[in-house]
Amino acid sequence: MAVARPSGVGCERRRILARYIDSACRLCRRENLKMFLKGDRCYSDKCAFDRRGYPPGQHGQRRRKFSDYGIQLREKQKVKRMYGLLERQFRGLFEKAERARGITGTNLLILLERRLDNVVYRLGFANSRAQARQLVRHNHFIVNGRKLNIPSYLVKVGDVIEVREKSRKVAVISDAMDAVVRRGIPAWIERSKEDFRGTVKAYPTREELTMPVQEQLIVELYSK
Ligand code: SF4
Repeated sequence: MAVARPSGVGCERRRILARYIDSACRLCRRENLKMFLKGDRCYSDKCAFDRRGYPPGQHGQRRRKFSDYGIQLREKQKVKRMYGLLERQFRGLFEKAERARGITGTNLLILLERRLDNVVYRLGFANSRAQARQLVRHNHFIVNGRKLNIPSYLVKVGDVIEVREKSRKVAVISDAMDAVVRRGIPAWIERSKEDFRGTVKAYPTREELTMPVQEQLIVELYSK
């Protein structure tokens, strides 16, 4: 269950702090997809999706028929949850994707991949996007030589992301750097392990984004 977004005047700070606080594993089970939201646990025999691969709740094991709208909604929720975004952030990126040249759905996926928290995760400096977001917020990274603690920053080709000197001994970062072999580092970024540094070589192409997503369904949903 997501934390209700407070309404009314003067709650901007509370709005900023709104976040999903229920079990991440329920999200995988709800979306019927192993989304690797919890790092090490996802690769262990404790993975809830591997143990109970059906939707959570009393009626989870019932067969459900979705309407077209339901199918589109589930696809949107899946991608949003995969990247750990709230509706407003996700919608904002969609609008940006719509304004850009090219195919809106592909643009959206590329924008999601370009978020700094995602790039930190992809480079293997964190074991999950949630962990990456926290590490970015806690000032463990510099981008192009400057401290940057904004997870939603969109990286550009040529950007250099480094672990700060004083953060190089942080256990979660070094553990993640070893563990990344399990999933590999995509070809559009490169990492130098010795220098604790990653570089954005290009933006990803649609073919490089191998997660099972039908982005056209999201475009259809938001175009209603
Ligand atoms: Fe999903 Fe990871 Fe939980 Fe498994 S352990 S259900 S992959 S978040």
